[in-house]
Amino acid sequence: MSELAGTCLCGGVRFAVPVPFARVTVCHCESCKKISGGGGTANGRTRSDEVRIIEGEGLITTYQPVEGSAKSFCSRCGTNLFGGGWPEAEVCSVRLSALDEPFEEPIQSHIFVRSLAPWEVLPDDGAERHDVRAP
Ligand SMILES: [Zn+2]
Ligand SMILES: [Zn+2]
Repeated sequence: MSELAGTCLCGGVRFAVPVPFARVTVCHCESCKKISGGGGTANGRTRSDEVRIIEGEGLITTYQPVEGSAKSFCSRCGTNLFGGGWPEAEVCSVRLSALDEPFEEPIQSHIFVRSLAPWEVLPDDGAERHDVRAP
């Protein structure tokens, strides 16, 4: 088991997470579009207690929407860091976009593809596709 390092855009938050992840997923839901500024979020699923915050814990803000799971970001630069209910949920999502090292594992599934935007095209990557979440 090895670890990958991650940071936010301003560098205030630094964390590390063990790999391989339990699952690697791209979520195309409406919420992920809003927070990502793009088609959605790419996520590695792991246990919340395995996410190790090295620096900047005080900069991390967690937002709990009315529907769906809590999402955490850097309050200085806005970088999207964790989702899926981190830090309280047992299992959470780590945004692959926040990792600093090349992440070469293939995407296993695209979820919430029913929310695909007209300007979004799914890659021909052989990954599973699910209308909502993976069963
Ligand atoms: Zn930041
Ligand atoms: Zn989503």
